[in-house]
Amino acid sequence: RAKHDGRNGFQFYSREMSEQARERETLARALHTAVDENQFELHYQPKLDLGSGRVTGVEALIRWRHPALGMVPPSSFIPIAEETGLIVDIGDWVLRTACAQAQAWQQRWQLGLSVAVNVSPRQFRQHDLPATVRRVLDDSGLAGGLLELELTESLLMHQTDAVIETLRSIKSMGVSLALDDFGTGFSSLSYLRRFPLDLIKIDRAFVAGLASIEADEAITRAIIGMAHALGMAVVAEGVETPEQLAFLQAHRCDAAQGYLLGRPMAAAALDALWQAQRNRLDTPPAH
Ligand code: C2E
Ligand code: MG
Ligand code: MG
Ligand code: MG
Repeated sequence: RAKHDGRNGFQFYSREMSEQARERETLARALHTAVDENQFELHYQPKLDLGSGRVTGVEALIRWRHPALGMVPPSSFIPIAEETGLIVDIGDWVLRTACAQAQAWQQRWQLGLSVAVNVSPRQFRQHDLPATVRRVLDDSGLAGGLLELELTESLLMHQTDAVIETLRSIKSMGVSLALDDFGTGFSSLSYLRRFPLDLIKIDRAFVAGLASIEADEAITRAIIGMAHALGMAVVAEGVETPEQLAFLQAHRCDAAQGYLLGRPMAAAALDALWQAQRNRLDTPPAH
């Protein structure tokens, strides 16, 4: 397009680019301050186990409450945190906070609730992640079996042997490993047999089409079948309608997350749910 527009078109384009770069620069600076002043919060989204009908865990999702900008979504600051390396500090904080919260729930409710934490590629590479996980589990007192790490395909694309060794060492603590956003990246099927994964999360791009788009239904059925054949469980992301949920139940998906079942929320907002689940467990079934 720049060719047809000639010189002016190009200048317009580059001015737009530098504006974007400036915005990024500003956000990167604000992000440094955010780390120093701890402007982050974690929200937790319930994960419904479709077999038992109970919420058996949550996913921790970071929120940045900027004093002037308000809530900045992770999609606009996680990439900058990755580029600047700030993700290492932020990621440590997320892991520590999520594990402490899960342990607090365990002590109060005894429901065996697990917490899933998103790990970004740079955080995975730049750090001795197994040592960090070990330390955080020890400090929080959380059993490794109640922690899940969510990884992305881009992380699995490089340095295969080193990655496998890291994953094995994390798994030896009882921690589960999930492949997030499955189907959106390169989705090499060889990842599924090469890496010691416990869980696949079907991206919400496919879940959105359930009960309406045949191709999405076929892909979802295939992912569930393949995961089960390989001994992995499947979680569907972004479930928004009862029809989508019914499809997933009918096709033996193991668990589901989405606005239909609960939005990400502050920890305290989940207490009513835990109370209700506790009551149900404590009340003997009537005959
Ligand atoms: P993700 O791990 O795939 O998380 C799911 C995203 O989908 C979340 O967006 C969640 O709020 C949203 N979501 C959940 N249910 C529904 C639904 O029914 N409909 C729709 N439309 N959306 C739904 P969020 O919280 O904005 O996070 C976006 C991404 O940012 C996450 O995608 C994850 O990749 C990244 N992220 C979030 N927290 C962290 C973190 O602590 N560390 C790292 N490294 N990345 C994080
Ligand atoms: Mg995730
Ligand atoms: Mg996801
Ligand atoms: Mg996703």
